[in-house]
Amino acid sequence: MAELVFFSGTMDCGKSTLALQMDHNHRARGRHGLTFTRLDRAGEAILSSRLGLATPAIEVTPELDLWEVVVTHLMGGQKVDFVICDEAQFYAPEQIEHLARVVDELDIDVFAFGITADFRTQLFPGSRRLIELADRVQVLQVEAMCWCGRRATHNARIVDGVMVVEGEQVVVGDTDGGASGLVEYEVLCRRHFMRRMNAKAAQAAALSADVLPLELDACPIPPC
Ligand SMILES: [Zn+2]
Repeated sequence: MAELVFFSGTMDCGKSTLALQMDHNHRARGRHGLTFTRLDRAGEAILSSRLGLATPAIEVTPELDLWEVVVTHLMGGQKVDFVICDEAQFYAPEQIEHLARVVDELDIDVFAFGITADFRTQLFPGSRRLIELADRVQVLQVEAMCWCGRRATHNARIVDGVMVVEGEQVVVGDTDGGASGLVEYEVLCRRHFMRRMNAKAAQAAALSADVLPLELDACPIPPC
């Protein structure tokens, strides 16, 4: 019985690496797959991991009908045993519904990978639909860590070194935002997310005598 599985986690938790590994494992057993991604940091139509691996993928543009893509492959005589979807948080809710249809009507496994919430702690529309429709949601075991050593559960957006909680939902990191500044992401535990205390801010606070001693008790300095 085919399944729609959502593998979720924060940024930096190895989602894309697992997606690539899963693709490899299935292919090694002679199974044929289709790989989708959207807004991968390495560029269009590529699924890459921070560990340096990459594979070609179909770019999920906003208007792409994923059901159609799979059906077209089947009609063309190609086998499709499984589908891998990376960066699934960026897919439209309707595209997640296409995936559910692929599972139910074509009996093809769909493995989706994505982060659940954005830098404001709000669910991405694609992730919300996946949580609603998936047969299983699996939280990834490779856990990212906050600078304080706790498990990181939140994705913070950093613009020119300062954590922000307002702005467009989707801005790809490590890009030169021009007038809007350099956008980066950092994973934090909830305590430090709520306190807007990214690693740089924590270091600055530790160096500043003004915030002693109360703030330091609440936000221990990063271990060296
Ligand atoms: Zn922390």
